[in-house]
Amino acid sequence: MNTELKIAYFSMEIGLSNDIPTYSGGLGVLAGDTIKSGADLKIPLVAVTLLSKKGFFQQDIDNEGRQIEHPVEWDPFRLMTRQTKRVVVKIEGRDVSIQAWCYMVKSVTGGEVAVLYLDTDVPENTTEDREITAVLYGGDERYRLKQEVVLGIGGVRMLHALGYQIKKYHMNEGHASFLTLELLLRHKRDIESVWDERWVWDIDTVKDLCVFTTHTPIEAGHDRFSYDLVKKVLGEIIPLTLLKKLGGEQSLNMTLLALNLSNYINGVAKKHGEVSKALFPGYEINAITNGVHSFTWTCENFQRLYDKYIHGWANEPELFVRAEIIPDEELWTAHRCAKKDLCDFVKNTTGVELNPDVLTIGFARRFTSYKRADLIFSDLERLMKIGKKEKFQIVFAGKAHPKDLPGKDIIKRIIDFSKTIDNNIKIVFLKNYQMSMALKLVSGVDVWLNTPLRPREASGTSGMKAAHNGVINFSVLDGWWIEGHIEGVTGWSIGPKPTESSLTNTTDTADSDDLYHKLENIIIPTYYHDKNQWIKIMKNSIGKIAYYFNCHRMMRRYVTDAYLR
Ligand SMILES: *Cc1c(COP(=O)(O)O)cnc(C)c1O
Repeated sequence: MNTELKIAYFSMEIGLSNDIPTYSGGLGVLAGDTIKSGADLKIPLVAVTLLSKKGFFQQDIDNEGRQIEHPVEWDPFRLMTRQTKRVVVKIEGRDVSIQAWCYMVKSVTGGEVAVLYLDTDVPENTTEDREITAVLYGGDERYRLKQEVVLGIGGVRMLHALGYQIKKYHMNEGHASFLTLELLLRHKRDIESVWDERWVWDIDTVKDLCVFTTHTPIEAGHDRFSYDLVKKVLGEIIPLTLLKKLGGEQSLNMTLLALNLSNYINGVAKKHGEVSKALFPGYEINAITNGVHSFTWTCENFQRLYDKYIHGWANEPELFVRAEIIPDEELWTAHRCAKKDLCDFVKNTTGVELNPDVLTIGFARRFTSYKRADLIFSDLERLMKIGKKEKFQIVFAGKAHPKDLPGKDIIKRIIDFSKTIDNNIKIVFLKNYQMSMALKLVSGVDVWLNTPLRPREASGTSGMKAAHNGVINFSVLDGWWIEGHIEGVTGWSIGPKPTESSLTNTTDTADSDDLYHKLENIIIPTYYHDKNQWIKIMKNSIGKIAYYFNCHRMMRRYVTDAYLR
């Protein structure tokens, strides 16, 4: 039925919209954006992920500022069609049956991409097995391993069962690396009594089929499983000696497995490519810098503005190069409308009244230590002194992984600050960050703040979303911002130049010092006293950042560099 050769895009999480809460943060939203651009550009793509029927989690915050997690309730029946074909994988020696739900991403261009959500919640499975695809990044190591077996091995089997012909398998992060084992099995040469196992396992053919994108510059961020556990859960589907050769002697490193079985490997920003090369010496690692789906991440006020002045922008974001022709007043009006929308939203959800005339800073993303959401509070006295001269307000949002205690602690600290800081600086924390809230934030603030600890931000994408709405970036030089930043032209940097690749020699104080200095002496004065200059930088955000840091450009790079190789 599917005769066209397709690219199979595998991702543990995919964020397409609020209605399908099967993502936790940037990785999933990037996957969703990739699929949408794939549909717009009519790239022959099919995507595979897990159903995550209980989502990641819904975030609540108690009176003490502690994060409370609830399972998300959502109904795939409403949005997706269940496929009748089922496939089976062996887990702990049991047959685990997998079904798939199909969601069609349809573009106005006529292109479409099927997304297959794998689901083990079928009557023939044990109660425990029915839960394997329930919670994204939930449970323990064993649970994660089972999920990855379903995704990688179950995913390839499902594609075959549904009749897809696949010419490349693209692994979005190492969670999907088990697909390589299924491909090894499928391309196993049927030779009896060979003296060398290299003749049996056609590694080159599998490598030709595989593309791997790594997203994690931190050693601890890569999934690792003990061979003991792998043996218990997966059994020995390929000989252990071979698996160790491909995935590491000590433990099974999912990144290493993907690296050893892919002919095209890339990091997600130029700097991240370099960092990954240092982390995994001996591999040819390329770089394709991330982008965001322009239409998804442009608020309605700006969509109308672009429709009027930059016709065709959504499917050809290169046209943003003409941002200069948008009249200043109309740009400012569109921004004011977006800001008012955000203020209304904040009022409705928290009761806090923000002042739309006041410089507003936004910070929203996953809360985890390296993102340093609380860097701006490192010297409270200095911050309050700046706020006394001229006002500003900050909006925060973000979830911490349920097991990330330091991440949860940062949420609590920020909520404590919001209660105790003086009236010149208003601080709000919005609970349950998700995609529609993200759009409100990246379009409704004036400045988008990002303060990761270098070089841990592989790329980052929320700043690109901000730029699509004329919102100005103020960020540490890491990830994509190294490529997008021109000081005082496209936004502002925080802290020293990104010379180091090591993970040790950054100091918080050098960064916070620079942050306070620029906030006080450049950003606040420009906002209140040099509107022309401010609007110029807004236009540069569109014309020099959104122009390049979009998913259409990224997808074309994947096609020419990775898929057509
Ligand atoms: C874009 C997005 C992210 C990624 O934010 P970064 O600042 O790039 O880490 C996370 N969560 C949601 C809901 C998003 O829309």
